[in-house]
Amino acid sequence: MPLKQIISNLRPKRPARPAGEVRFVGAGPGDADLLTVKALRALQEADVVIHDGLVPAQIVQLAQSAHKFIPVGKKGFGHHTPQSDINARIVENALRGHRVVRLKGGDPTVFARLDEEIEALEEHGIRYEIVPGITAASASLAAIGQSLTKRGRNASARILTGHDMKGFADHDWRALAQSGEVAAIYMGKRAARFIQGRLLMHGADPTTPVTLVENASRADQSILATNLLNLPDVVDQANPSGPALMLWGLAPRDAAAHPVLQQELA
Ligand code: SAH
Repeated sequence: MPLKQIISNLRPKRPARPAGEVRFVGAGPGDADLLTVKALRALQEADVVIHDGLVPAQIVQLAQSAHKFIPVGKKGFGHHTPQSDINARIVENALRGHRVVRLKGGDPTVFARLDEEIEALEEHGIRYEIVPGITAASASLAAIGQSLTKRGRNASARILTGHDMKGFADHDWRALAQSGEVAAIYMGKRAARFIQGRLLMHGADPTTPVTLVENASRADQSILATNLLNLPDVVDQANPSGPALMLWGLAPRDAAAHPVLQQELA
């Protein structure tokens, strides 16, 4: 037997990689025109789509050759699909050799529990790829005509969540309370009063603008512009039912186009 073959026979055999694969695809904020070309292609090539409740049906349906659609998350089976069940569904379908698209609202790397799902795949040696999407903050900034960073105003910006697994999320409020700070606050609707309290306690100016963009990029998009002082009351009154992103430190550029702004600040 040639030496090369003897050596190769001695090497431990690696388990074969399963045939299936998973693409974590960012569906963007809701407007199907904001999908990337790569996201669209991944959807068109998918056998199985496992999608979040936030992703509109119009986008999910772009996966025309998929034979299985599994809704998970808030609007999925009942009220909440436990993360372990989601992981199991992804793994199970990939191990069957399917091309799975795990479709997530916005960008899969932003508040989307991506790491837990990746770890489940790694345990089984399943291949995966991440296809970025437009995150809600980008769509909300576009809606109000402002940029996330601006020369002379803020050289950095923060991405925060109003909520984490333990309840209202804590942050570096002292730093955020400084003038010129900008933050994109995800899942902040119910935390409005908490956020206001923390920022005021750390010396934030009560007239600092805060803008809530609900359903950014969708046909039913609405913009609620207010300031720190009025924030919780304005949110309570408007009681937005759709996903909403809070922009701390930014007002819509064209105030005249948003009469709500004038009312709330009056
Ligand atoms: N991965 C997503 C975020 C998921 S967390 C992304 O990158 O956008 C869910 C939160 O995102 C919602 O509570 C809301 O704060 C925000 N969000 C998602 N879609 C939105 C939209 N179209 N308009 C405004 N906020 C949105």
